[in-house]
Amino acid sequence: MPDAMVAARASDAARGTPRQVDVAVVGAGFAGLYLLHRLRKAGFTTVALEEAGDVGGTWYWNRYPGARCDIQTIDYSYTFDPELEAAWTWSEKYATQPEILRYLGFVADRYELRRDIRFGTKVTEASWDEAAERWQLTTDNGAPVSCRHYIMATGCLSAPKPPEIDGVKDFKGEVYFTGRWPHDGVNLAGKRVAVIGTGSSGIQSIPLIAEQAAHLTVFQRTPNFALPAHNGPAPSDRMSLLQGDRAAYREQARQSMAGVPYPQQTAVSWQLSDAERRARFEEAWGKGDLVYILTQLWADQAVDVDGNRLICDLIREKISAVVKDPETAAALMPHDHPFGAKRPCLDTNYYATYNRSNVTLVNLRQEPIKAITAGGITTARRSVDVDVIVFATGFDAMTGAIRAVHPITGRGGKSLSDVWAQGPQTYLGLTVEGFPNFFMITGPGSPSVLSNMAVSIEQHVDWVVDRLAALRDAGFTTIEPTEAAQAGWNRHMADCSTLTLHRLANTWYTGANVPGKVQGVMPYTGGVGPYRSICDEVVSRGMLGFRLTGPNVAAQCNDGEAVRLQPDVRLVLNLLATLNLPPIESMGALGARAFVNEFNKGRPAGRPIGDVVDGTLPGTDGPLPYRVYKPAAPGPHPVVVYFHGGGWVLGDEQSDDPFCRDMVRRTGMMFVSVGYRHAPEHRFPTAAEDGYAATRWIAEHAAELGGKPGPVLVAGWSAGGNIAAVTCQLARDRGGPDIAGQLLLCPVTDCDFDRPSYNDNATGYFLTRSLMDWFWDLYCSPADRIDPRVSPLRGKVAGLPPAFVVTCEFDPLRDEGIAYAEAMAAAGVPVQQLKARGHFHSSFTMVDVVITGAPGRVQMAEALRRFAGLPPEVSLGDEHSHGHTSPGHRIAAAAS
Ligand code: NAP
Repeated sequence: MPDAMVAARASDAARGTPRQVDVAVVGAGFAGLYLLHRLRKAGFTTVALEEAGDVGGTWYWNRYPGARCDIQTIDYSYTFDPELEAAWTWSEKYATQPEILRYLGFVADRYELRRDIRFGTKVTEASWDEAAERWQLTTDNGAPVSCRHYIMATGCLSAPKPPEIDGVKDFKGEVYFTGRWPHDGVNLAGKRVAVIGTGSSGIQSIPLIAEQAAHLTVFQRTPNFALPAHNGPAPSDRMSLLQGDRAAYREQARQSMAGVPYPQQTAVSWQLSDAERRARFEEAWGKGDLVYILTQLWADQAVDVDGNRLICDLIREKISAVVKDPETAAALMPHDHPFGAKRPCLDTNYYATYNRSNVTLVNLRQEPIKAITAGGITTARRSVDVDVIVFATGFDAMTGAIRAVHPITGRGGKSLSDVWAQGPQTYLGLTVEGFPNFFMITGPGSPSVLSNMAVSIEQHVDWVVDRLAALRDAGFTTIEPTEAAQAGWNRHMADCSTLTLHRLANTWYTGANVPGKVQGVMPYTGGVGPYRSICDEVVSRGMLGFRLTGPNVAAQCNDGEAVRLQPDVRLVLNLLATLNLPPIESMGALGARAFVNEFNKGRPAGRPIGDVVDGTLPGTDGPLPYRVYKPAAPGPHPVVVYFHGGGWVLGDEQSDDPFCRDMVRRTGMMFVSVGYRHAPEHRFPTAAEDGYAATRWIAEHAAELGGKPGPVLVAGWSAGGNIAAVTCQLARDRGGPDIAGQLLLCPVTDCDFDRPSYNDNATGYFLTRSLMDWFWDLYCSPADRIDPRVSPLRGKVAGLPPAFVVTCEFDPLRDEGIAYAEAMAAAGVPVQQLKARGHFHSSFTMVDVVITGAPGRVQMAEALRRFAGLPPEVSLGDEHSHGHTSPGHRIAAAAS
């Protein structure tokens, strides 16, 4: 319905007449305030509905002793107005709750925002009125509201979680929740106090409560990692960076992974000595900066359990150095989750508090709470009499504030609670299919709590308000994501969740803290900068994935998925695009080899394994170099003969070093990487014949090399996959050697360039059609190309060893790999395929760069072990859990 008609309809009603606005906002915290400011500037009529008595959101409610931010305040601030920045100076590195609340009040005053906020007002119901194309809101205070757009600025941690402990009502003493702390304070002096919960709220409040209370008993279910905040003035190095170039500093934050301007670490933990790692850790510990210690130690700290465990060990050392009683120290040490997978806490004197004589720690893992009684708390081992219980038990995070607070009914009477019954479904974390004109700021599916919220809030608000203005200007009255776009985003979310270790912890990030809540990683783990670029790309691609309608304009729907690539593949390809490299085929063979060598120097070093030994073997026309990669466990091990990639032109026996090391670690088998001869110096069939000769020699000399005599396996990537496939055919036809299985990773199998993948993926995915053309020209004359020694798909494929064939969605070679797998299977060869969604030609060999390739390499390792007759255990490396594996993890693993 046109706005004019709505206004006319509104004007004739008096009692209970809905207040008509363009946009209604729920919440007047960081997000709600900025929304009001932007909406007003963009010319929208607005109202914000706020349950609290004043602005502040989370900082209005969380007034417990010790409440502070855990992102440095210079970063945890609005940046949209340089004059605002100039007008406010923070007094401390981490501001207290009262100071942050004053800041938000200052912002509200400065932009006169309170006049559009209805305080003390809770929305009790929100329904989409299909005919009017408006949201109709009822509230518990004042007139209903009718709005064109409805925006939840409700925060991620605003719905406190019930304590789920029997007997709370029976307790006769005082009860407080950190998330709803009385505004006039609480006098705990001389009282026996219990604190239940040791998350950030508990850890911040416990030292101050201990100073006041006669006795404090802390009931801890799960220990958390806590780091000293070293609060004080804002650090001079950060301040001078900010003041030196404020705009650049802020921009770096916007493009960063966590919303705080720190660079990406490139050194991996295994490249650093113990002393170097300790020095980095001590420096970080001394800084008192959560984002620094979470991101700046080594590149693998947040993505790999081994790199992460090094930090866990160092923090546990710190705990035992501070806490005098060894049993208490041990109970305070987290062992059940990777560092950072659960939000670590910033503390002031937290661990030292347990050295006080008036503080007792009760380890609920050993003695669970049985009940709360009239006089205190009873565990399986004791009863503790207390006057006060403080629940620091957390929140129904992310979805709680949106889903549980009031019924939201969308198109066709669909309830948001029902739509989210199996976990939140969103597009970009901002919108939900079936809920037109409905937006969330920092909702599930957005970086939100895994980022500096101030940066994410500004990005979300800017994006939403800019879109609303653009829609209005174009005459559209509704916007809604499509089913396909939302499903794509959920897949992308699952892909992203394999990037970090968040899936390996029971946390409010995954919903595991609320009994019965569906579990899965709720925030977007792909990073703030990448998320921003995706949102921008959605706009530049014509509002990709949104359906727009209006009374006087043709409906518009450019349907599709925002991200089809794996998240880290997208980053790699974007980075390569910014380098603006000349095509490899324009460099000449020597130039291309030099380029590849340089390129490889920039990648993370391969991981440590048992041993690496170089040697030469006799080829048909002279020695061929090889490199043996041995597992750490004592041998002899089954032998895998490996052929590197490089289009028969590039690379050598060392060029796939990280991949060989990774596979050795995962399979527990020995890899012998062969330096076959290259074109154009040695054209077809040299590489194929070298591969076959090397395989035969290695099989005959397996024992001398330290391997297990008997059948060998062959493996190869790209042109190396071609050589591995050809070797299997030659071995079958020439009476050996005995090959137990073949791993073909993105193999070249045919000379035909007409399959769809050669067109779909001709450019933009590093290996291009033109580069393949060049490789073929250098290696093989047109007349020779149908020879099975270079096009094994044209050879006889029956009677070959069992195969595991990996193909990547965004690879020109995809379809010929699939064709070869299907041909072998049709001929009776046992074949398993991995069709890797969202991956490109180099995904699996870019070990420790394309992290989402790890589950695929697990499958390859399983296949090789199966071929070798070994039991199925593989070293999962970065995949194995610290304990509980969440469904989010399983979803993500299945998605790859
Ligand atoms: P939280 O991290 O979820 O911690 C809740 C604590 O209560 C956990 O130790 C939990 O144990 C325990 N718990 C919950 N139910 C329990 C039960 N029935 N029996 C015994 N123990 C129970 O909540 P939070 O401390 O309020 O922090 C939530 C988030 O808010 C933080 O992660 C942070 O992002 C934000 N926050 C930030 C700051 C800051 O520094 N700026 C301060 C406070 C909060 P389990 O772990 O075993 O479930």
